[in-house]
Amino acid sequence: MRNLLEAHGLTKSFGGVVANRDVSFTLEEGLIVGLIGPNGAGKSTMFNMLSAVFPPTTGEIKYKGQRIEKMSSYKVCELGISRTFQNLQVFKNMSVLENVMVGHHSRTKSGMLAAALRFPSAKKEEKIILEAAMEQIKFVGLEDLYDVNAGSLPLGKLRLLELARALATKPELLLLDEIAAGLNHIETLEMSELIKRIRNKGISIFVVEHDMDLVMGICDKIIVLDQGMKIAEGTPKEIQNNEKVIAAYLGE
Ligand code: ADP
Ligand code: MG
Repeated sequence: MRNLLEAHGLTKSFGGVVANRDVSFTLEEGLIVGLIGPNGAGKSTMFNMLSAVFPPTTGEIKYKGQRIEKMSSYKVCELGISRTFQNLQVFKNMSVLENVMVGHHSRTKSGMLAAALRFPSAKKEEKIILEAAMEQIKFVGLEDLYDVNAGSLPLGKLRLLELARALATKPELLLLDEIAAGLNHIETLEMSELIKRIRNKGISIFVVEHDMDLVMGICDKIIVLDQGMKIAEGTPKEIQNNEKVIAAYLGE
C-alpha cells in the first residue's frame, strides 16, 4: 500500500495554547482512517493544517512525496485534498446546486470573479463545474433537491450538501470533520454507507468523528489524539482495548 500522506512532527501553537504537539502519522492510499480524541484534542487543528487553512508552527506534511505544508489551500485542493468543515459552510440563500458550484469556483484559478464576468475560459469551466456538481449531488442522493434553497434543508441534508461540495473538486484524499454530528441513528448509518461508497470509488478518507459505532464500523485504522498529542494508533479493536485511550475518554 502506497503512502498518500506523511505528517512528520506537526506542532501548532496559538499563542500559549499548543493545539498539536509533535504529531506524526501516515495515511495509506485506499484506507478509511479515523482521527479521534476528546474535545479540544486538536483534531480540527490537524485538519486545518492538512488542508492548508493555516501552516503548522513546525513540522512537515508530504502528499504523494511533495511537501505541502507551506502551500495555499487552493494549491492543496488542486493537488487532490478536499475537506468538509465541522461548522457547516453553506450559503443559505443559494440553491443546493449553486452551493456545490461555488465551492468549486472558490478553489479554481479563474475563480468566482471570472465566472461572474463570463470570461470565455470561465464559460467552458462553468459547464465542467456544473456537470461535476450534478454528478456529486446525485451521488449523495440530493438530486430531487438540487434547486431548493439550502436554507430550507434539515441538518442531515446539509451534511450531504457539504459532502457533495467536497467531492465536486474530485479529491484523492477527503477529510471529513464530524460529518455525522447531530445526525439521527438512521442518518448516521446512511452516512457510514456513503463514506464506504466514496472509499470504493478509490478516494482515501481521513475522518474525525465522535460516534464510536461509526468510527469502529468503517475505519481500517484509527489515530488517537489527546491534549494535542498522539497517544495511540491501531485497528479499531486495538484502540478499543488501549488503556491510554480509555483513560483519555474517562477523563473527559
Ligand atoms: P478538537 O477539534 O479536537 O475538538 P481543536 O483542534 O478545535 O480540537 O482545538 C484544539 C485546541 O486549540 C483547543 O484548545 C482550541 O481552543 C485551540 N484552538 C483551535 N483553533 C484555534 C485558533 N484558531 N485560535 C486559538 N486557539 C485555537
Ligand atoms: Mg473539532
